[in-house]
Amino acid sequence: MRITHVETIPVHVPIRAGMTMKTAHGEHVDSEYVLVRLHTESGLVGLGEATVGPRWNGENFRGCEAVIRDFLAPVVVGADLFQRNTIRRAMDDAIKLHPFAKSAIEMALWDLAGKALGVPVYQLLGGKVRERIPIKMVIGAFPVPKAVALAKQFLDSGVPVLKVKVGLDPEMDYQRVKAIRELAGPNVPIGVDANGGWDVGTARRMMERMQALDLLFIEQPIPPGDPAALAQVRALSRGVPIMADESAFTLTDAWTVARQHAADVIAVYPGKNGGISNALEVVNLAKSAGLVCHMGSNLELGIATAAMIHLAAATPEIACERFPADILGPLYHEFDVIREPLQLGPVFAEIPQAPGLGVELDEAILAKCRC
Ligand SMILES: [Mg+2]
Repeated sequence: MRITHVETIPVHVPIRAGMTMKTAHGEHVDSEYVLVRLHTESGLVGLGEATVGPRWNGENFRGCEAVIRDFLAPVVVGADLFQRNTIRRAMDDAIKLHPFAKSAIEMALWDLAGKALGVPVYQLLGGKVRERIPIKMVIGAFPVPKAVALAKQFLDSGVPVLKVKVGLDPEMDYQRVKAIRELAGPNVPIGVDANGGWDVGTARRMMERMQALDLLFIEQPIPPGDPAALAQVRALSRGVPIMADESAFTLTDAWTVARQHAADVIAVYPGKNGGISNALEVVNLAKSAGLVCHMGSNLELGIATAAMIHLAAATPEIACERFPADILGPLYHEFDVIREPLQLGPVFAEIPQAPGLGVELDEAILAKCRC
């Protein structure tokens, strides 16, 4: 069954009032992403989403559309929808980098394969290893009153695990996490994510100061690019797991992190890794190195979120029970682009059961949010 046409749909979806994501990379107030429809000769349509973020991965929606039009579509059109590995290789041969654009095509191929066979994507990935996915909510690096108010809102709604963004001003970072720990009490697991905003010395001092705050993990304390320095930080973390996120985009990145013993946990997700298959390669590499994986996020909409759910559902090494997943993007946006909303939170993400990714685009919403 051949692919006849690659359609790109740039969309603009604002973040809900009060829920923008402030991190060491800046403030994420709205999402300009690219949705992909792969059309086939049989009429089946596969859905993908490129969750592009200029400050995160260097891709934006205009560039992404151009990359898909000029480099990716020419190798996809005419291919059989089941030739996923051939297409992946052809995309990498056509243009370097651009993982989020490639991921949009790749997840649409999984969606098509599932629809063609009449099974959900998690079945194609080997079947469910968990019935639903534990998730957490994330609090931006805001001043203490706003951060505490958000934490209270989440905890009151039944959210059992929190992640707090840090990595801007060290004193404010400490006060924010301390205030949220005091609000939450001792039994709520809390992790922090510096998004590479500290240097090694700051990370060392912060880990000492935060020791009493009983952190579940410390994500990306220092910038990517120096795994030996990250290993140094890890050696001083007093047993708190260090998670590599920005340090592990590619398989080679993950190998470097593992070889240098720079992290305990590697954050994966289809967009960052360039597709579901690429994320699985990272997972297997991590497994061979004795590491576990975590499902990270850069605030996806419903299509990419569904891809994350299927991957987490089928992959035991993505340790969602120990490190609840960042499967949360749609909860932060004013609206989603899919017809039937995903069931997310406060404790679990439910696994879609319809064939493919199990989501359908909402044409009325598309008309309103198309860029
Ligand atoms: Mg992160």
